[in-house]
Amino acid sequence: MTAYDTDNIFAKILRGEIPSTRVYEDEHAIAFMDVMPQAPGHVLVIPRQGSRNILDADPVVLQNAIVVVQKIAVAVKEAFDADGVYVAQFNEPASGQTVFHLHFHVIPRHEGVPLKPHSGTMENFDVLKANAEKIKAAL
Ligand code: AMP
Repeated sequence: MTAYDTDNIFAKILRGEIPSTRVYEDEHAIAFMDVMPQAPGHVLVIPRQGSRNILDADPVVLQNAIVVVQKIAVAVKEAFDADGVYVAQFNEPASGQTVFHLHFHVIPRHEGVPLKPHSGTMENFDVLKANAEKIKAAL
């Protein structure tokens, strides 16, 4: 398996080298808005500890990360009055992974409303910020 690259874009977000619209952080993980959301309120949860994906992750890091995923899932459901929440996680390019730092997609879903394409259209920053504020208010 390819080694973890500390220069991936999410590692840079963790180090504050590039901006992100954060909604939550603790000692284990951070959560921020996906810039190409598949639905309004699409959040990414990433552990602070680097791994390429679930295949090389420390099990304790996974345990701590999933608790944050649950926290964000509950918050996005409330913030967007969603009918459900989609949680997705890809491992290696064949599965659809494009950024090689372990991350979980957390996306509010409404009955009958299809998801936009994965890594599709860049969202306006003000919209991301407004959606982040809704999620923070629900946390
Ligand atoms: P994946 O295919 O699971 O690796 O998806 C990576 C996700 O990261 C996609 O949904 C992208 O829209 C998202 N993404 C890429 N660059 C950034 C960034 N700088 N800030 C926030 N989200 C990003």
